[in-house]
Amino acid sequence: MAEKTKKLTPMMKQYYEIKSKYEDCILFFRLGDFYEMFGDDAKEAAEILDITLTSRSKGDDALPMCGIPYHSSESYIAKLNQKGKRVAVCEQVSDPSQKGIVERAVQRVVTPSTNMSESMLEAKENQFLLVVSGVASSLKACIVDISTGEIYLREISKLNEINSVIANYGVKELIIEKSLYETPEVYEVVREIEAVLITSYPQEKVDYELVLDKLNKFLSHYDNSLIDPCILAGGYLTDVIGYELEAIQRVARIDKSEESFELDKSSVINLEIFYTIIDGNRKNSLVNQIDYTKTSMGGRLLRKRLIRPLKVASKINERLDIVSSFVEVGNSKLEKIQNWLGQIYDLDRLLARVNNKTVNPKDFISILQSIEAVIELKKIGEELNGLAKQSLVNLHECTKTQKVLSVLKREEVKISVKDGGIFCDGYNEELDELRDILVNGKDYLLKIQKDESDKNDIPTLKLGFNKVFGYYLEVSKGKTDRVPEYFIRKQTLSNSERYITPELKEYEEKVLNAQDRVKELEFNLFNELIERFKESQSEIAELSSKLAEIDVAVSQATLALSRNYVRPEIREDKTIEIKDGRHPVIESIIGESSFIPNDVSCSDDEIIKIITGPNMGGKSTYLRQTALICLLGQIGSYVPASSAVIGVVDQIFSRVGAADNLSMGESTFMVEMKETAYILNQATEKSLIIMDEVGRGTSTSDGLSLASGIVDFLSEKLKSRVLFATHYHELVEHVNGLKNVHNLSISVTHDENGKPIFLHKIVSGGIDKSYGIEVAESAGIPEEILENSRKYLKQHEVGADKIKLEQDRQTQKLSPYDQSSLFVAAKDNRFEELINSVKQIDVNKMTPIQALQNLNELVESIKEKSKL
Ligand code: ATP
Repeated sequence: MAEKTKKLTPMMKQYYEIKSKYEDCILFFRLGDFYEMFGDDAKEAAEILDITLTSRSKGDDALPMCGIPYHSSESYIAKLNQKGKRVAVCEQVSDPSQKGIVERAVQRVVTPSTNMSESMLEAKENQFLLVVSGVASSLKACIVDISTGEIYLREISKLNEINSVIANYGVKELIIEKSLYETPEVYEVVREIEAVLITSYPQEKVDYELVLDKLNKFLSHYDNSLIDPCILAGGYLTDVIGYELEAIQRVARIDKSEESFELDKSSVINLEIFYTIIDGNRKNSLVNQIDYTKTSMGGRLLRKRLIRPLKVASKINERLDIVSSFVEVGNSKLEKIQNWLGQIYDLDRLLARVNNKTVNPKDFISILQSIEAVIELKKIGEELNGLAKQSLVNLHECTKTQKVLSVLKREEVKISVKDGGIFCDGYNEELDELRDILVNGKDYLLKIQKDESDKNDIPTLKLGFNKVFGYYLEVSKGKTDRVPEYFIRKQTLSNSERYITPELKEYEEKVLNAQDRVKELEFNLFNELIERFKESQSEIAELSSKLAEIDVAVSQATLALSRNYVRPEIREDKTIEIKDGRHPVIESIIGESSFIPNDVSCSDDEIIKIITGPNMGGKSTYLRQTALICLLGQIGSYVPASSAVIGVVDQIFSRVGAADNLSMGESTFMVEMKETAYILNQATEKSLIIMDEVGRGTSTSDGLSLASGIVDFLSEKLKSRVLFATHYHELVEHVNGLKNVHNLSISVTHDENGKPIFLHKIVSGGIDKSYGIEVAESAGIPEEILENSRKYLKQHEVGADKIKLEQDRQTQKLSPYDQSSLFVAAKDNRFEELINSVKQIDVNKMTPIQALQNLNELVESIKEKSKL
């Protein structure tokens, strides 16, 4: 490199010097109207941005190069950020027209979580950065969204929890304290994290006192160790990103809450809260189905509540009371409220723009329009009752802010601060004058001419302009004796004299400079306005939080009314009593009338439900809808059921389906067992557990034995509420002896051709058939395979039944005349003839004697055949 630098041009030398400080970034190097990229940066960027890769120089000195126009850089930066890249933007900082090389410096670094351009931000989602510090055994973290000015503090008890936080909060970037990152055990875990940009940042680089000073008003009541990551975040954001910490609006602690719990990563995924599992799509996620919010703040609050449901009945009821009050408002007024809510802009993000000096006049007008919508909401509030009235009427009118912003022009609102035309007439005297000059400049000059002509009685006095001395007044030779003293002679012509006056010169100066001066003045006035706005911005921040809460409550009331949801009764005990429960997403996809509702009934004596039933019968749906109803209830929403009593759960655990984690060297079964172990270790008596198919990833006997052991443990030790779906029909019998376990099944009927029809209806008792072959048939498995499968199934069943019969007889559990043996016998071909003759019997056409005789014959025949 040293050799190479010798041959470099001064500019390339400068490039390499700057690049060496930003190795982990793609460097945008400003050259005139372009940002150029070189070397590997150029190769990488050209591919992502789909732009032409060229070369600087040829031959040995060839260097890959590509460039983008500086005025459209934001969209290119966003594209690179979306691919998880950091971009360092290097500007020309000295006057390019000066001699010598232009000075250049990196003025900002833009990363995936700190890019605040429209193309990066999702209106109803936060854009989170996770910052972790501490020691491996005691991690402290904070989650920051600089686009909304929110910081959440939390502890992370286990290294793996970092993954959970990233998944749940949709974190885009992880900053980890450098010495912590270098700890081998931490490094092992962190390097496996995918799809998140990871930066290690040293604590020593941070000016602790400076950051603390800026955030102290939020942090003073938190423990020192807890605020460490926040200080690290502050240092990183200020020094690397160039973010103004003044934009932080709220800091809150979100773990260790007595009031709420955080859904774990598995449940967020398995219950498809934000994305569907199969395609990662948002459309059929829970949140998309239940979200009727109209503001971005409301949308984000709803998402946060879904991750952190409440677990204290009284708190949940407080939320439900507000929703109920809005339900009473009725559809037509709710619609009006929602219309006004829809006029409200993203106040949090507007505030962040104000504090980061990226705010423009249109943003301020958006704030004003939002306040005006709030005033309309207050008016509607006056017509309502109860909590709905209270929450709307109590909204802050933000009169201070309104007054500050009232000076802005509402017509032809400007996006740029540099073009002028921002302020109303009458706001600033100089501005009015300048505008007057621009609009009426000529008239004004004519007015000067007329005034001077009248005042000095020189009717022939003329106004003129030349390039040498600008505007002048021309007086014909015969009248020059009338010229007053303040006329300054500038030119003598054969028939006339040309003069300037101080007024004319002053005015001329103004006319000629008015355009530039207007822009400059408005720019300065706008900066003053920002400062004045900041003095009252806390009222906007407060308004924004209140609006978010109202928006969510109104959304939930609208959901309740439009989708026929009911208010759940929330209790502190272990009851779950749901009548006609529905799956919020599936019912909306297939239509409410097509969805078969089902009941759930858990009480202290029956806390575990074993659900057997055919494939495609609706077991998974039943499990998930129960969990979702509890979740919805606990965020304070109405629920899809005809009635629901929910004894609050302290966590929802879910094990659904199976997935390999081959990259981590884990098989399907290993993943399944790890997830199960996690649940069994973490769940408490107040938890809700849904387990769909446990033990399926291994041999039937191993799987069944594990499933039985797990159910025993759940029943006798954990005593959590559990819904356990299984294809192991043997479990049905196994649990018969367990006192708090209840068998449920999905009922099946048959059409005229004997084909099964799945009624999706949950009934009491177990079932002994999975109908896998029938489901395979409808899935399109070739007939010849199905035919063979049916034969094998018969053999398996007969074999299994013979063994079972024998075992039961040996253990004397079953007499040959035991009723259940009749069902077993039905599958044994020794009884085929007998069964056919039973099918012929029509009891309604028999006399009692005939019936007795028939019964006697049957008994004799069974005895006979059983000897075979
Ligand atoms: P498997 O054992 O094969 O996993 P399953 O018993 O878990 O099947 P689900 O996956 O819950 O069955 O449901 C199968 C299909 O039946 C789904 O497509 C779902 O839309 C539909 N379904 C389930 N429950 C109902 C219901 N209550 N009303 C109407 N349709 C339902």
